[in-house]
Amino acid sequence: MNTLHELPSYLVPAGAGPWDVFLEQIDRATVSMGELAYLVETLKRPKRILIVDVPVKLDNGAVAHYEGYRVQHNVSRGPGKGGVRFHQDVTLSEVMALSGWMSIKNAVIGVPFGGAKGGVRVDPRKMSEGELERLTRRYTSEIGIVIGPDKDIPAPDVNTNEKIMAWMMDTYSIMHGATSTAVVTGKPLALGGSRGRRDATGRGVFVCGRAAAKRIGMPVEGARVCIQGFGNVGDAAARCFVQAGAKVIAVQTVEGTIHNPAGIDVIKLAAHQQAGRPLAEFVGAATIPNAAFWEVESEFLIPAALEQQITVANAGKIRTRLMLEGANGPTTPEADDILATNGIIVVPDVIANAGGVTVSYFEWVQDISSYFWTEDEVNSRLDKIMSDAFEALWDAAQEARVTLRTAAFTLACRRILEARHLRGLYP
Ligand code: NAD
Repeated sequence: MNTLHELPSYLVPAGAGPWDVFLEQIDRATVSMGELAYLVETLKRPKRILIVDVPVKLDNGAVAHYEGYRVQHNVSRGPGKGGVRFHQDVTLSEVMALSGWMSIKNAVIGVPFGGAKGGVRVDPRKMSEGELERLTRRYTSEIGIVIGPDKDIPAPDVNTNEKIMAWMMDTYSIMHGATSTAVVTGKPLALGGSRGRRDATGRGVFVCGRAAAKRIGMPVEGARVCIQGFGNVGDAAARCFVQAGAKVIAVQTVEGTIHNPAGIDVIKLAAHQQAGRPLAEFVGAATIPNAAFWEVESEFLIPAALEQQITVANAGKIRTRLMLEGANGPTTPEADDILATNGIIVVPDVIANAGGVTVSYFEWVQDISSYFWTEDEVNSRLDKIMSDAFEALWDAAQEARVTLRTAAFTLACRRILEARHLRGLYP
């Protein structure tokens, strides 16, 4: 055996990881598929997987190679849609699961997209600006054969942002000899981005939290909120909750955990973070061990970092009333069962964090029609789509006596499989 070469992650037989979680979630919904059950297998196999090698010339002259992926899970309801993640732990299993969750999310919320996701296995924090740009452009050109405004539309995810979307849009446009703003969403405003996109996911988390709280008769004002992840999603959700009179009492990031029962000033925390200062030096909260974060009593707990954070190891310790999944796939199925037994209501990722893709849909529509909306228009349409979808989901879950997650998967799988059924099987 040749031990000189490090195998890429997709060749390491270490279990199916997050994809396994997705499969189990599909299984839980399959019983309710009725006559569409004959098509369920479709959801257990991504339609298309592209694995690319991304060579990048580093500043020191060396050439580094990174694994890149684009997975289109299902396109029965429309073109693929889903973010691009740059992270050192990205695996094919993860990107497959994330693409599957995008199919479900887009169907739950009712936007006319299928599910897709992309990623590069790289730690972008260790790259210079120039290296990051070369990485982004090469990755875009490699996946350029499968993306496009009517094929598959990428967006930001963990460690990717407006600037990276601008480079992606530019690279794709150069490849096609025409400016194509609708090929990615989450772009800067000056390049066809949408007003309200930056805060949309966090705002959607809040809209769902407010609606769920109303259903259980719990006021948002004065509520205690704990947030894991203070990036795009966590920061915006925190601001919305604070504006509504709640207080954020604990925040965990990759750097550690801070806690203040009287409430953390989230605007100051964002400024502190933006200035590149260490979390532990933030004045106005005490540092606590990471494991203690899950035990802090709250009304709302928002995981908004990465997947598989709530497992059998910590689910039993959680003391909250409503968990709003800002992150994708933060809870394992076993942990889900523990939370349900303990009476904790989980508003699943496929609805809770759908605000981002909803405004991405708005951005795509605006780019295609070359007519741009005001921020108020964007926010009120977001509010309406999310609130309506949430209310329908809550009623469906109550009626079927299942969790919101199972209700969401059931509804979404039915919508996707109905589209598949109507289109028929080719040839
Ligand atoms: P981001 O990169 O802006 O922020 C991620 C945050 O998580 C950072 O504060 C980071 O410190 C923290 N974090 C990372 N690893 C951690 C760890 N091991 N423990 C604790 N904290 C950790 O990313 P984002 O865009 O806010 O995305 C967060 C999650 O939300 C992801 O699961 C993503 O898929 C999901 N999501 C994002 C969007 C979007 O519009 N950005 C939309 C839908 C879902």
